This record gives sequence, C-alpha cells and structure tokens, in this order.
Amino acid sequence: MNKYNTDIVKLTCSCPDWKETRSQYPSSDPRRLCKHIIHNLDTGNLPGSIAKFKESIEFYQKQEWGFKRNFDEIIELDNFTLLGSVDWIDVFDNEGARYAVKKESFSKTFYWANERKPKNYELIEQFLIEEAEKIPLPLEDDEYPQIISFIKKVLPQKKDFYITISLSSFIPTANGIIYDIFESRLTPEQEMSLKQELLQSYDKKEAYYKLGKACFAPIDEEHEFDIYEALTVTNNEIIVRMYSGEKYTFKRDYNYVKRLKRARELQKKLEIEERKKVWRDALEQERKIAMEKGYLLSEDYKGEKYNIQSKYNYPDTLSWEEYESLKNSVLGNYDTLQNLIKKNSLNISTTKFNKVLKNLNFITKEPSLNQSNWIIIGDGLNYGINLIKMSKYMHKDIPDWYKVQIFDNKKMKLVNLKWKTNVKMTSALFEKNKFDELCQLVKQQIEKEHNKAINKNEPQEVLDNEEKNILRKFFKFLHSMYS
Ligand SMILES: [Zn+2]
Repeated sequence: MNKYNTDIVKLTCSCPDWKETRSQYPSSDPRRLCKHIIHNLDTGNLPGSIAKFKESIEFYQKQEWGFKRNFDEIIELDNFTLLGSVDWIDVFDNEGARYAVKKESFSKTFYWANERKPKNYELIEQFLIEEAEKIPLPLEDDEYPQIISFIKKVLPQKKDFYITISLSSFIPTANGIIYDIFESRLTPEQEMSLKQELLQSYDKKEAYYKLGKACFAPIDEEHEFDIYEALTVTNNEIIVRMYSGEKYTFKRDYNYVKRLKRARELQKKLEIEERKKVWRDALEQERKIAMEKGYLLSEDYKGEKYNIQSKYNYPDTLSWEEYESLKNSVLGNYDTLQNLIKKNSLNISTTKFNKVLKNLNFITKEPSLNQSNWIIIGDGLNYGINLIKMSKYMHKDIPDWYKVQIFDNKKMKLVNLKWKTNVKMTSALFEKNKFDELCQLVKQQIEKEHNKAINKNEPQEVLDNEEKNILRKFFKFLHSMYS
C-alpha cells in the first residue's frame, strides 16, 4: 500500500491515479483523495477542508478505496455540502455525517438512503426541485409524430423507415433531455411476427441476425443517427444529430408544449380521481354486502389472531422449502369433493353427491355463513375439515357447531380454531384416505332414497289425478258458462 510518496497535509500522492486524475482538484475537493491518502489519513484529526467528509472517508478507508469521482460539482447549501451527481447525491452536514438523496426525474418524489434525513432536509429537497425545474420539458405525445415528419422531411432517405423515439437512459439535465431514435424497415407488428417466424426456423443467434438484416439495413454510415445523442430536447429546440456530425434543428413552441403538458396532467388527475372514486365505491359496496351478511372485510380487520398462520413465522429451524413441503404433505391428505370425485372416476355428479351428504346431515349451507358454500358438520367432520382459506371476507361471529381448522405455522399441523369471532371463510375438504368409506355411505344413502322414491310413487300419482279432476271440473265450468 505504501510504496508511493503520500503527503496527508498537502493531500498529494505519487501514484498514477493521483497524478493522472486527482491532482486537478483543489484540496477542499474529496475527489483529490486517492486510496493511499485515504489510507494514511487520521479520521479523528482530519484537515479542516475535508473534515465534513469524515463518514465517507472512514468508509473508503475500510474498503481501501479512493474517494468516489462520479459527481460533477460540489454544492454548498447552507450548512450542507452536496456532491452533485446525476443519480444519488451525497449530502454531508457540518459534523461530517453523510446522507444520500435521489430525486426521481420528472416528479417530486425523493428517496433518502436508509430513510435517514438530516435536520432541515427540506432545504435540500427545495434546492433539487428548483434545479429540476431548469430541466426542459420532456416530449409530449403530440410532439412525436411532428418530429418524425420533420426527420423524414430533412432526411428524405428515411421516408420508408418506421421511426420510433424513446427516452434514453441518460439522466436529463438543464442542458437537455436525450432521446434515442430507432429506425426499422418494418412496423413493430411486422417485426414481432417476423421474429416469431425466424425463431421457429433458426437458432436464436441466426434468427436475430436475420431479423436485424431485415429491419435495419442502413443506407450508409453517414445517414445513421448518432447512437449516444440522437435527439436532444430543450425548451426551444429539438436537435437531431447524425453519426456524421451533421445536425438538424427543429424549433419547439415552448408555450404550446406547456399547454399540452397542463392538459395531460389535468386529464391524468381526473382519471386518478375517477379511478379512486370507483375503487372507493366498490369497496363501500363490498363492505355493505359484508355487513348485511354479518361478515367483515379482511382489510377492515386489525387484530393479530392470524399470526399463527403468517408466512413470516414458520419455524426458524426449517428452510422455506422444508416448510413448504411439510405444509403441503399435511394439507395434501385432503382435497375438494370435486377433485376427489374426478380422481376416483365416480359416476355421481358433485351436485348429487353434495345433496346426499346434505341428506346424511354431513354438510349444510347457512346463507349467513361462508358465502353460502358448503360447511361440513356433525359426523361429516369424521371425513373432512373446514379449512380456513384466503378470503376477502371474515365472519364477525360463528356458531359453536361450525368447526374451523387452520394450519398452524408454529406447530406445523392443522389445529381447531378456538375463537369464534373474526374468522375467515373456509373450504370444505375431505380426507383422501377416508373417501372410499364416505362413498360407501353415500351409495347406501342413494339406494335408500331410491327405494323411498319408489314407495312414494303412488301418492304422487293420486295427487296428479286430483289435479286432473280439478282441471276437468274447471273446464266443465268454463264450458257451461259459454255454451
Ligand atoms: Zn495514491
């Protein structure tokens, strides 16, 4: 580390990094600090000019790095020093504590690293907002076709190309917003279908090569757009730059763009308001329905009773995969009636099966419970369970006979829910290995009901005859009236 001559008073070093890049900065600029200087500095006793960067110097000392250089300027703002960068901005206070802030382009959203903000941070945000206001207005939707026709006018050779303009990855500055220009002989739709076609016939590399050839085929280098700065947008002009250095300027009507922007923002605001209203109304409607049925919306429930089922409290000793497989093996012993009927190729419809289970008093429906889905009751519980499911609704109260099970993440097994309030909806699940037994009971019951129906046939016939007699009398009466 110390084979170079490093002076921590003058902040100089004989290493190539210092000589080539860092020497240009004054001693108050931390970019002057190569890793050797940083290594030798006593952070408890830093020179006054760099004392405020203490926290970062300590960090770079530990990492054995030089001070970062990817910022453009040092901004002094009241008691703060900002390392003005295009992305994250380091902020140092007088005590040498470091913060970092990032402002989203084209919005007033700020991110503070680790959610740590200095006192009077508003000052910094205000400054960054003002700086951002110097950035030109981005392109509005209506401007894209205008620019494209301008390009085709000044570059007639692009007439048959399909041109698209999109925001580049360069961070916008007061000097302009950079956009990329893409050109293709095909429309995006044609490109997509050709791509799919080629990928079916060729391997990936060859397919993309052929696709590129079909789409791009530049006329010659001179007529290509500059790949780094194809389009620069400022408030008053838009500049198209060519690879050759040639450029074409399109005048931009700032007031017109401002009007477009205002109209767009207003439209967006209205849409958001409308969407919010629809969402609020829908929620209110759901809440009303829930209340009428004696349910509670899950999102209205603030209690903690469901902690035992939280996915965050699965046992520490298990990995997530182990937890999942254990949970699935327990729940895998159960299935829905519909699936079990299908898997066992039974010749009984789910509706019929449920009807018989109901006649057996194994299941029930209570309009005010479980969203009118079946609930397993009484002896039916020997064959299945009511398992709590993901649900939008919860019951405020459930009756004693409604037995509900839940998978307990701490005990890693199914447990009976003890409480009778604020319970989520359930699914009726049947035990796989008792399903045969259940089927036998159902078949016996069907037999029994069938026999009963045969015995019932006669009285039903009598009833029908009675009805016929009434009708006959009625027709006789009608006949007497009109004859
Ligand atoms: Zn050095």
